[in-house]
Amino acid sequence: MNPIRQLIKKTISTAIPQKLFLVHGAPQQKANRSAINISFTFDDGPHPEYTPRVLDLLNQYQQRGTFFVIGEKAHQYPELIERIINEGHEIGNHTFTHQEPSQSSTRCFLDEIKQTDQILKQITGNETNLVRPPKGKLTLGKMLGLWLQRRTVVLWDTDPRDYLMSDLAEMKNWCQHYHPVEGNFCLLHDNHPYAIEAVKQLSEHQEFQIQSHIVSHWLAPKSDQAILTQQASA
Ligand SMILES: [Zn+2]
Repeated sequence: MNPIRQLIKKTISTAIPQKLFLVHGAPQQKANRSAINISFTFDDGPHPEYTPRVLDLLNQYQQRGTFFVIGEKAHQYPELIERIINEGHEIGNHTFTHQEPSQSSTRCFLDEIKQTDQILKQITGNETNLVRPPKGKLTLGKMLGLWLQRRTVVLWDTDPRDYLMSDLAEMKNWCQHYHPVEGNFCLLHDNHPYAIEAVKQLSEHQEFQIQSHIVSHWLAPKSDQAILTQQASA
């Protein structure tokens, strides 16, 4: 991401309430202090091969994550959406077709969000309030459209760029050099194989104990935070 976009992202994230715009979680007083608490976020799935393997590992390491799913893929693999929810993770809306942001009008973008809402409601019975725009790109019109619906726009502050990697060693190397900071939102893609390696490497990190939570963990009322943390580490 270029420095100007980074600055805009940082400015908005400090000026706008967290319920509307989240780039990372605010450190919490009652957090599980034996670990560094972050959020694994997985975009562009569900994928029939990689998403189940990511879920297996999240289970194995008792981690929780948020999956920003593409509506047409959710429609294709509803059993994976059910599995994500049933295993204690969370779903976010990542539009219906992942149209290139510069090619999509505000109206088209909001229509895709709505289409995905409908699919997710059919599968899970619920809608998600969390939205991540493709490539993290929004115009003012798209952002205002989401805020009028009282959506939480979720971006990230940590990006290993797994979609550009060409082998597992690259991800292993990134993970070994990653210094987690409380509240980091780590961007991964479960339509690529490297997200699987990231979950494994970060959960087995030599230097840091990393505990991943769903993104909504950071939005929970203060009194619920300790409970959520206990549940996540139970
Ligand atoms: Zn995406």
